[in-house]
Amino acid sequence: MKATPCFITLAVLRKMALVLVFLLFSTHPAWARLSVDADILGQVLQEAHALFADDTEGANADYIPELARVPSELFGLALVTVDGQVFIAGDADYDFTIQSVSKPFTAALVLQEHDDPEILVEKVGVEPTGLPFNSVLAVELHASRSVNPLVNAGAMAAVSLVPAESDMERFSKIKQFHEAMAGQELSVIEEVYRSEAATNQGNRAIAHLLKKYGRIYADPEEALDVYTRQCAIGVTARVLAMMGATLANGGVNPISKEQVLEARHVPKVLALMLTAGFYDESGRWAYDVGLPAKTGVGGGIVAVVPGKLAVAAFSPRLNQAGNSVRAMRAIEYVSQRLGLGLFQ
Ligand code: GLU
Repeated sequence: MKATPCFITLAVLRKMALVLVFLLFSTHPAWARLSVDADILGQVLQEAHALFADDTEGANADYIPELARVPSELFGLALVTVDGQVFIAGDADYDFTIQSVSKPFTAALVLQEHDDPEILVEKVGVEPTGLPFNSVLAVELHASRSVNPLVNAGAMAAVSLVPAESDMERFSKIKQFHEAMAGQELSVIEEVYRSEAATNQGNRAIAHLLKKYGRIYADPEEALDVYTRQCAIGVTARVLAMMGATLANGGVNPISKEQVLEARHVPKVLALMLTAGFYDESGRWAYDVGLPAKTGVGGGIVAVVPGKLAVAAFSPRLNQAGNSVRAMRAIEYVSQRLGLGLFQ
């Protein structure tokens, strides 16, 4: 009779210990934030790579001559979780130009430097264009002219809003911000910069048109050049996934733990990505996948799952809208397989 309370106490203690261990593990950031088993992430990435490895639809961008020379068969995938786990498949470490995937990051820098979410609304615009990324017509049609920071007009306007005394300072602020997002040093791929700088008459026309309308806030030639350089920053699928994971993680790089972007600006950037990340296919992407993402004519795409992870893909062959065919399909597959879409 005397021993019973003691046994009950031990049994209760054991149960309490089990509950405690369970609670500890289930609330660890890695498990609490991921509704999926971490083991499956690498497996799904490999599946996506195998599934689309032979997909040859689309063609390299060639309006920037150097981009036509990038081997078309390259195909890399990377996924980074908010607690810093990295999974890769295929050519995830091939260096290619970031191109328009830089646009949300420079928009983020503008928000941060001005410490004011209204800066983009008032000085650039936040509406999707429904028109191609390099549309001159969009500047004429929309009252805000530059339209939004994820098309070329708005991206050059955003570059011009980065406070700086010189073009060198402006570019180095932009590059440093991208590096902090990535948690590593990045370099410009000079051949692509020179190739685009020699052939970017369309963007030059847009920059000067914005000047006419008072919607560019530095010398248009300077904004054009810094923008062209920004687009030529070299990244890999792994790097893009890390930059995306920094957005997913409330602006904190999952590895360096640096608060690169103030958390309050992150939803603004993700909203721009959801509504304008795929140019005139943004509606379709939101409809099919439902994730904020950004594409670039270099063949890179990064998609962000807030609070959980980012997935990036690289494949140079693009569709008519300028979006990488395989990268889109691979990310869509990963998203569906893991149930990542925000509206599911
Ligand atoms: N540098 C490219 C351009 O301005 C970027 C376009 C893109 O990636 O969509 O045309």
